[in-house]
Amino acid sequence: MTATRTALAWEYSPAPEATDHIRLGERYELFVDGAWRPPESGAYEPTINPATEEPLAEIAQAGAADVEAAVAAAREALPRWRRLPALERGKYVFRIARLIQERARELAIVESLDGGKPIRESRDVDVPLAAAHFFYYAGWADKLRYGLAGRAVEPMGVVGQIVPWNFPLLMAAWKLAPALACGNTAVLKPAETTPLTALLLAEICQEAELPAGVVNILPGDGSTGAALVRHPGIDKIAFTGSTEVGKDIQAATAGRDIGLTLELGGKSANIVFDDAALDQAVEGIVNGIFFNQGHVCCAGSRLLLQESVADEVIEKLWRRMGLLRVGDPLDKNTDVGAINSAEQLQRIEALVDAGEREGATRRTVACRLPDRGYWFAPTLFTDVAPVNRIAVEEIFGPVVSVMTFRTQAEAVEKANATAYGLAAGVWTDKGSRALAVARGLKAGTIWQNTYNQFDPTSPFGGYKESGFGREGGAAGLRPYVRVS
Ligand code: NDP
Repeated sequence: MTATRTALAWEYSPAPEATDHIRLGERYELFVDGAWRPPESGAYEPTINPATEEPLAEIAQAGAADVEAAVAAAREALPRWRRLPALERGKYVFRIARLIQERARELAIVESLDGGKPIRESRDVDVPLAAAHFFYYAGWADKLRYGLAGRAVEPMGVVGQIVPWNFPLLMAAWKLAPALACGNTAVLKPAETTPLTALLLAEICQEAELPAGVVNILPGDGSTGAALVRHPGIDKIAFTGSTEVGKDIQAATAGRDIGLTLELGGKSANIVFDDAALDQAVEGIVNGIFFNQGHVCCAGSRLLLQESVADEVIEKLWRRMGLLRVGDPLDKNTDVGAINSAEQLQRIEALVDAGEREGATRRTVACRLPDRGYWFAPTLFTDVAPVNRIAVEEIFGPVVSVMTFRTQAEAVEKANATAYGLAAGVWTDKGSRALAVARGLKAGTIWQNTYNQFDPTSPFGGYKESGFGREGGAAGLRPYVRVS
C-alpha cells in the first residue's frame, strides 16, 4: 500500500458546529396512532454516535405486535385521510416542509451526530432536499390527474416504507412525501443505526397536527422490517437498501396483490473522456465517491478513464484527495466524516483487503484520524481488473476503483459490465458524445459533466439489480396510486 501526502502545508482552525441547543431525549418510544408508546417487548437499544462511539439515546425496538398496532392505526386513519379534499391534504404536506425548514439546524446536527456525515452535507444537502421533497409533493396533491395522464387515481392504501442509514431523513422524505400527497397512510421503519431524525420527523408530524395514524414510525432492526413486509395489511412496500434484502422482500411479497418498489445497490461508472475539462472532472470524481463517505447507492465507485489521460487524472485526483479533511463530522471544514457503523467499517476493510490480495494497487491518504469512532481514509485503487471484487461489489465506502478504456464503445461496454444499473457520469466536452454514450448506458440516472445532483423533480431509480420503480418527479407518484 502506498500512503503519501501526510500533513497539509497549512491547517484550518477548528470550526465545530455548536450542539448546546440540541435537546435529545434520553429515550425515544415508537410513534403509533399519533402518540408515543413503549414497545410491547420492552426492548430498547442505544443509538451510537459513530464518530465517538458514545450512546446518544435509547431507542424503542418495534416487534411484530407493534407492527400489528401501527398497521391497524394506519388502516383506521386511511378512510378519512383519503377522503380529505386534496387541497387540504396538500396543506399538511406543505406544513411538514415548513416545519423541516424551521428545525433545519437541529435536524442537520442530529443527522450528523447519529450517522457520521459531515455537517456541511447534512446542512446543505440532506435537510434542504428533504424539505424540498415535501414542498414538491405538496404541490402535486390536488393535481394527481395531471401527473398521471388525466386518469382517475386512488391511493394504494397502507404503505410500508423501509429506509437505510445513509440518508435517513432524506430517504424518509422521499418515501413519505409522495405517499401522503397521494392519500396513503404510512408505517415507516428507519435503519437501526440512524433512527433519530425519523423520530424528530414524527415530532414534526405532531406539530403539523397531521391526523393520528396517518404516519407511524417504528424504529427497530431487520426483523422489524421483515415483519412489516410480511404483514398482510400492507398494500405497498417501498424499500431502499441492499440488493440482498431487496431480493428477500421480493420473495416475501411474491404472489400478493401488493405494490413494490426497490431502490437497491449500485456500482456506478464515472467515465472521463480525454476531451473533458480534467480539473472539473477531478472535482466531480471526488464528489462522486467521497460525498457522504461513499455511503451512496449511486456513488461513482468505478472510475473509467480514457487511457490517454489516465495518468494525468490519477495524479490530479491523488493530489486532490490529499486535501480532503477527514474527521469530526460536526466541524464545518470536514469533507469526509465517520463511517456509519463498526459493521460497515468491517465490510469496507474486507473488500479493500480483497482488492490488495487480488493484485490491485492501493493508495490510501495518510491523514490523522481520531482515536475513537469508525474511520476509513480516502482510498484509490489502480491496476484493477474487471473481475476483481472491488470492481464488481458495492463497497459503500470512500474507495474508488480505477480502470481504463481506449474507445467510446469500450467505455460503454465496461460501464455496463455490472449487475447493477443505478447511475453513471460522463465527462466530455462534446454534447453529441455525451448523448451517444448515455443512450448506450443501462443506468437510471446519467449525469453529464457533474455528479450526485439531486432534485425532487427528477425521477431516480435503477435497472437490473439496482431495483425497480422510480422515486421523485411525477414518476414518483405512480407507485403510490392505483390508476383506473
Ligand atoms: P440493509 O439492506 O440490511 O438495510 C436497509 C434497511 O432494511 C434497514 O432499515 C434495515 O434494518 C432493513 N432490513 C434489514 N433486513 C431486512 C429484512 N429482512 N426485511 C426488511 N427490512 C430489512 O442494508 P445494511 O444496512 O445491512 O447495509 C449492507 C450493505 O447494503 C451496504 O454495505 C451497502 O452496500 C448496501 N446498502 C445500500 C443502500 C442503498 O441506498 N442502496 C443503503 C444501505 C445499504 P436495520 O438497519 O435495522 O438492519
